[in-house]
Amino acid sequence: MTAHVIDGKSYAAQLRTRLAGEVRDLAARGARPGLATLIVGDSYPAHAYERRVARLAADLDCHYVREALPADTNQADTVAAVGKLNADPRISGILILRPLPDHISETVLYRALDPLKDIEAVHPVNAGLLALDRPRYIPSTPASVFHMLDRYLTDTGRDPAQVYPHTTLVMVGRSNNVGKPAILLGLARNATVLSCDEHSHTAGLLHHYTRHADILIVAAGVPGLITADHIKTGAIAIDVGINPIHNPHTDTITLVGDLDPDVTQRAEAISPVPGGVGPITDTWLLHNTILAAHHAHNIAAAQPNLDGLTLQTHDERLIPTGS
Ligand code: NDP
Repeated sequence: MTAHVIDGKSYAAQLRTRLAGEVRDLAARGARPGLATLIVGDSYPAHAYERRVARLAADLDCHYVREALPADTNQADTVAAVGKLNADPRISGILILRPLPDHISETVLYRALDPLKDIEAVHPVNAGLLALDRPRYIPSTPASVFHMLDRYLTDTGRDPAQVYPHTTLVMVGRSNNVGKPAILLGLARNATVLSCDEHSHTAGLLHHYTRHADILIVAAGVPGLITADHIKTGAIAIDVGINPIHNPHTDTITLVGDLDPDVTQRAEAISPVPGGVGPITDTWLLHNTILAAHHAHNIAAAQPNLDGLTLQTHDERLIPTGS
């Protein structure tokens, strides 16, 4: 068996066409989405991501602000930078790029965000709303994973709503920004969900669990962690990992995922790195920015959620007390 390679770039391109239409509709009502990124220090992946979303914001004619702070910026000044973006009416959504320097508390920064501008749902209010199946925003990476899965199932003649209840879905990685929200999205689709982490690996049990997976999602940040030996024959394996590998001879960086190439011998389909989940994630971030612009201007979004299958996003302020 040689696995089908799912083309994330093509799904992302289709999403971008829809978003361009939404930006035009907003412009007709006098509103323009605005995205701000906050980046502290010089992490290679953070800067690479920032450059991609800046390009995409420009392509979609969204206002864009990049707030880049030196690595030694203290906590108070970083929180103040968030406050400045919160107060800027041209900004509808704010992305705090990870990783942050060790002396900056992620928790403190996330709490400083205006929840209406928190397009990655990292503020405790938005993370809680997602856990309660009433998301204001669905964080872009897990949303993209399920967009890819739903599209792939549909494109191969299957009804996702029928498939998930018969599916064992294994999530490797349980971070707050990727693994945990992906687990929630899997539960919302009525899949049977198993969660694995570094402790499953250390205990020598990772392959035991992953071999049960009809759908395997991997977000560990460990190059080649998952080999053919971890895969059930015919599984769909989605690779979220992005690992920069430096070649000292050419002084170049290559990106690889968490799936070993030999996974293609067993899986029905895999998502590649690069060109898989990443391009959809970039686009979803702009989708959430556009949704935030609707919230900011009290305009009902034509398409509050591109993830049509399960959770509908809400602006919690608009839900009457008691509902
Ligand atoms: P974190 O480092 O925050 O979390 C990693 C998770 O993986 C933890 O839950 C950890 O377990 C688990 N883990 C680590 N090592 C192993 C192992 N050997 N076996 C099993 N589980 C393991 O990373 P993120 O979630 O932020 O990111 C994960 C990867 O996804 C990275 O490569 C990142 O670059 C990439 N990424 C890609 C995005 C995209 O759009 N494509 C967006 C965001 C991230 P424990 O909890 O026990 O520590």
